[in-house]
Amino acid sequence: MKYRFLRFPGGKTKAVTFSYDDGCREDLKTVQVLDKYGMKGTFNINTAGVLTDTTGFHMSEDEIRENILEKGHEVAVHGQWHKAPGLIRAIDGIQDILNGRMDLERMFDCIIRGMAYPDSGILCFLNQTTYEDVRRYAKDLDIVYARTLGYDNDQFELPTDWLNWKPTAHHDNPNILEWAKTFVQMDINKEYFSSRRPKLFYVWGHSFEFERNNNWERLEAICETLADKDDIWYATNMEIYEYVTAFESLVYSADGKKVYNPTLKELWLDNNDGTLYCIKPGETLEI
Ligand SMILES: [Zn+2]
Repeated sequence: MKYRFLRFPGGKTKAVTFSYDDGCREDLKTVQVLDKYGMKGTFNINTAGVLTDTTGFHMSEDEIRENILEKGHEVAVHGQWHKAPGLIRAIDGIQDILNGRMDLERMFDCIIRGMAYPDSGILCFLNQTTYEDVRRYAKDLDIVYARTLGYDNDQFELPTDWLNWKPTAHHDNPNILEWAKTFVQMDINKEYFSSRRPKLFYVWGHSFEFERNNNWERLEAICETLADKDDIWYATNMEIYEYVTAFESLVYSADGKKVYNPTLKELWLDNNDGTLYCIKPGETLEI
């Protein structure tokens, strides 16, 4: 019996993703920096902000379409009115997520299933609401992943609960550049057998914070450190979710010597002795 570890597209051992909230105009600059370094990101849009903007805080629908979606980035739910689900009654949380999702799907003519919890999200609870309540209704609303905040660490693990997806670090975390360097220097294939798990570096924040703190060079430094690495896949949040869940759909024979890929994606697997397999859609392979 061997460990069988996921490898990202092309057999890569690591992935990097970004997540920026609130649909503010400064996202236009963030996306330029991400594009310059070949990064991919997810932009979480509280739709009422965009649709009722009178102050120029938010991007317009056309700006989001042209600068984010058409450049290969993702948009995701951030509530219609940016309400923290932990602080409101379930019926209000359900409306905020569902209406935000329906607004995005109407505005951009696509299917939206990703989310970042608005405000304090699921960090604190009032009105007898629990995480299990929020998790259940988010799932019922076909939200497949939701990013939270406040758990910064240098473990670089994939989430175990997609509806409580904890990022690696906020961009202002004082350790972020050190962690980014550790991440790029890691050679997963040289780790102890059980430590050869795929790794993820997940950065989040609000683009207006760069303007407020006058530290755009920080985003440049993070991207520069992570960019142009052969063993890193640069992906949106949804691309990572869809790839990992496709990998988890692989079907094995009882003796573990055959694997069948029932999905439409090429899937990469390391059988823990350094042998890398690419299993094509519909293919059964001896491993
Ligand atoms: Zn927000």
